[in-house]
Amino acid sequence: MPCCVLVSFVPLKKQSQKTIKTIIVDAGHGIMDNGGHNGAKGSYSYEDDICLAISKQLVAQLKDRFPDVRIVETRPTERIVPLHRRAEIANENKGDLFLCVHVNAMPPIHHSEFAGYKKVTSYVGKGKKRRKVTKNVPQYRRWTTPNTTTKGAETYIWGAHKNDDKEVAMRENAPMLEEENFKENYGDIDPNSPEFIALSLLKTKQYFKRSATLAGFVQDEFAKAGRVDGDVRQRGVGIWVLQATAMPSVLVETGYITNPGEEDYLNSKEGQKETALCVTNAVETYISWLQKQQQSGNNNVNVKNKNSTGTALNDTKNFLEMVERKEKKAL
Ligand SMILES: [Zn+2]
Repeated sequence: MPCCVLVSFVPLKKQSQKTIKTIIVDAGHGIMDNGGHNGAKGSYSYEDDICLAISKQLVAQLKDRFPDVRIVETRPTERIVPLHRRAEIANENKGDLFLCVHVNAMPPIHHSEFAGYKKVTSYVGKGKKRRKVTKNVPQYRRWTTPNTTTKGAETYIWGAHKNDDKEVAMRENAPMLEEENFKENYGDIDPNSPEFIALSLLKTKQYFKRSATLAGFVQDEFAKAGRVDGDVRQRGVGIWVLQATAMPSVLVETGYITNPGEEDYLNSKEGQKETALCVTNAVETYISWLQKQQQSGNNNVNVKNKNSTGTALNDTKNFLEMVERKEKKAL
């Protein structure tokens, strides 16, 4: 009797174990009301369309790999969604992770070349002193050519030096913190109180660390896939949405539309799938990392501390000291 080995290919479903309940996928840009594109332009394609195509792949892959995680799209169609609305969608849905998908572009290279002199006649003086002056003025020919050499995928996080803005977003989204067993751990804290501000600062730092960690995992995946490994970068301009979301957030520049090879890659189904897969794999690594953090208690910002009367600690000074101690642990 022939020996028979049965191999069944069952898709691997990952349990996030509720470390992550909701992931927000944000396809950059979109078609404006006047029909125009909002993102960068390549030689034959638009950033807006590529962002949507990769985001759709990413949504499908995330749903497949993490069936118990809710995936929310900020821009589900080709139409543009204002940035503030994207942040609102992310915050209203209490996202645990914000993944922003973009395509990079290099500005054109400016050239200039001496093209000879031109006689320019003008008049100086007034009345009888008025006279004609002729000057030779150098002429330049100016033109631009596309910058086609720069390529590679890069992942951005909100700059640590700009964390003040993120902290504001944290405070504005106080109800979210309440969801995280906030009252249990911290008691009734007024969102305008120094205690709450300290807590939001702590959360901001924690989210910064998480964003940076996830961004590193995304870059690792790009490197494995043979894409040029641009570094994780901090950026303070153009990514307002990252600071407006009260959750760990990364912005992935999936490649350069101005590079012919990458424009083709990003427009191909395989390229779009592979790019989305890099992010999906990074999210899986991130979830495992987060679970380990939480199991080891590293990430536990539970500052539950009752005073002798059993009510939540409400002494500002003690509270701030406690937050500082916990912060050191959490980071
Ligand atoms: Zn963009």
